[in-house]
Order: sequence, then structure tokens, then C-alpha cells
Amino acid sequence: MRRPILAANWKMQKTNAEALAFADTLLPLVAEASDVDIVIAPPFTCLAKLSARLQGSPIQPAAQNVNPEASGAFTGEVAPGMLVELACAYTIVGHSERRSLYGEGDDFISRKALALLAHGIRPIVCVGETLEEREAEHTEAVVGAQLEGSLAGIDPADVSQVVIAYEPVWAIGTGRTATPETAQDAHAFIRSCLRDGFGNAAESIRIQYGGSVKPENVDSLMSQADIDGALVGGASLEAASFARIVNFEGVEG
Ligand code: PEP
Repeated sequence: MRRPILAANWKMQKTNAEALAFADTLLPLVAEASDVDIVIAPPFTCLAKLSARLQGSPIQPAAQNVNPEASGAFTGEVAPGMLVELACAYTIVGHSERRSLYGEGDDFISRKALALLAHGIRPIVCVGETLEEREAEHTEAVVGAQLEGSLAGIDPADVSQVVIAYEPVWAIGTGRTATPETAQDAHAFIRSCLRDGFGNAAESIRIQYGGSVKPENVDSLMSQADIDGALVGGASLEAASFARIVNFEGVEG
């Protein structure tokens, strides 16, 4: 039985004051959701204060990115050890915006994932195809290659710490969601790749769906066998909306 994981990716949004107000509003709304993992990835600038506010609560802080190096001349970057200091439980790596806007490739992403695991932080590794790739029927080739490259070098003994986020690029921030069946097909394919690479450990790896998840579609997505959670952008910016996603129908309180 995989524990559902609902994660908010705020991207470059919210000040410290807004982040703390969000936490104060959200906490009572998710008090009954004891059988899910609830994660918020704010901008780096909010991480210290938000993490302190969430201490002892069921909500875990996450980062949106990391550099695999321990320290050094990497202007603008943040090292894994710095995230440990902020009690970061998870970190998103390989988001399609980082792949497309900042040219990050699978090799760099796998180094990030390995560095996070070495520091006891769980990577949320994002994969997903573009619209052109889907229309050319290249989804499985693209996603399979991203998985192989981004998870390279990970020990099967550690892989259950990894969360995969399947985020079709054409569904991110577009309002266009994959149907539950389309998403389930991709998730089942991802799990088969994980079985090929990691054997039985694949059964315990959580695979989130991401791409215009909202209160209106979360229940049908979460009812699918291989959908173990959601990575949520736009609909995570408002506490009531994210709370409804966390309290999806079928979740045990
Ligand atoms: C995301 O950025 O990871 C995402 C899924 O965004 P949205 O929910 O807005 O599509």
C-alpha cells in the first residue's frame, strides 16, 4: 500500500508573509488527513520561516531545486546540506520548467537525486513528454529515457525514497488535464520501467500525477491504481483549493 503524497509547487510565488498566512489557513483544513503526506515547496526565500512554522505539523517543507555540489563557486545555487539545515523533507528535481528554460538534462538531474538521497532528502523526480512528442507517439520513448537517465546510479535499496512525478508538459499550467485513463496508462508504463530497473522495489515507489490538478479532477485521478499522489502548481496557491486536493475523496482520515 503506497501512502498518497500531495505536494504544492508554488514556483516563483508568495512572500514570507503570504506563505505563513497560507500555512495558518491550511493547517486546520487538513487536520483530518492523517493517511497522506502533505508537502509544500515554496520559493527558497520562504523556506526557513515556513519550515519553522510547519515544525511538528503534518505538512512537510520541500525545495524546488538543488545543486548536487556540496559547496563552492556556484552563484545563485543552493546545496543539499543547506536544505538539511532547513528541515527540508523533499526536493523537486527535473521539473519541465527547469528542463526547458534552464537546459537541465537527465545527467544533471540524476546527480541532484543522488546528492539529495545522500543527505536524507527525498527527491521528487519529474518526467513528462511535450505535446509534439505525444502526438508523434513518442511518449513512452521520451518518458522511459528520462526515467533511465534521471534515476541512473540510484541503489535499488534507496529507490523507495524517490517519488516520481509524471507531468505531461502539455498539461502544466494550461488547464488541460490528462484524462484519468491517459494518466493511468502513463503511470502503469512508468511502473513497468521502474520494475525493469529496480525489481520489486518498484511497487513501493510513489508516482504523482501533475498537470492542472484541481479540486474538480483530483478524485477521479486519485482513483487510478498507479496514481499515488499529485504535484500541484496553480491550484496549490490558494489554501482552500489545496486543502480540497489533500482531502481527496477516498482518502482515509
Ligand atoms: C507543476 O508546475 O508542477 C504543475 C503541475 O502546475 P499546474 O498544476 O499549474 O499545471
